Amino acid sequence: MRKPFIGGNWKMNTDGKNAVELAKGVAQGCAGVIDKVDVSVCPPFVYLSAVKQALGSSNIGLGAQNVYFEAKGAFTGEVSCQMLKDVGCKDVLIGHSERRHVIKETDALINKKLIAAIEASLLPIFCVGELLEERKAGKTEQVVKEQIQKGMAGISVEKAKAVTIAYEPVWAIGTGVNATPNQAQEVHLMIRQLIASMYNKDFAAQIRIQYGGSAKPDNAAELMTQPDIDGLLVGGASLKADDFTAIVKAAAPVKK
Ligand code: PEP
Repeated sequence: MRKPFIGGNWKMNTDGKNAVELAKGVAQGCAGVIDKVDVSVCPPFVYLSAVKQALGSSNIGLGAQNVYFEAKGAFTGEVSCQMLKDVGCKDVLIGHSERRHVIKETDALINKKLIAAIEASLLPIFCVGELLEERKAGKTEQVVKEQIQKGMAGISVEKAKAVTIAYEPVWAIGTGVNATPNQAQEVHLMIRQLIASMYNKDFAAQIRIQYGGSAKPDNAAELMTQPDIDGLLVGGASLKADDFTAIVKAAAPVKK
């Protein structure tokens, strides 16, 4: 059975005070369901330590939004896996669409980051998803397959067990237009079948695949009823403790 996993990607939002308040609100709000759902929040780097402290003993995971693959050295502005571990991170987002399309990260770079994160015992949330024009051109499957094949190249099944995949159609991120549950399910099933062909059926049945893209309290439950949607990666709605908590609660009863 795959335990639901809800992640909150705060992106480049909050300030020090607000980040701590938000973390406390999420910790309080999720207290009754945290045994049924895995929950992580991903604040900006500079607030990781403060948020870790604010989360206290809540069992809510701390995640970073990015990481660099090198261990240390002359990489100005970058942050290593060990640094993330030092401040209490469990998870790390890798390959988020804003890093792919705004910062221009390549599949090859994302692959190096995934390998480094796994080696450091971080749990990557590996994001993939097609642009609107790619969907319109009927290329969704091709794009997502290529991102996964290149991103996970050289990663053994044992190592891949650390990974959660987040399918995030770029046209749904921050737009208010979520993929319909059927649209999302179609891609999630394709991803699971791809993982079965790259690895094996048992592992494909275990790996968690989150959906991300305008997930909200009023669409979370329906998305989560889909057989291959195991969780949600939430951007905008993770910035309000009540909304994020409502999404976590909507995911809690779902068993797969
Ligand atoms: C995201 O940033 O991963 C995301 C899904 O954003 P939003 O929920 O705002 O669409």
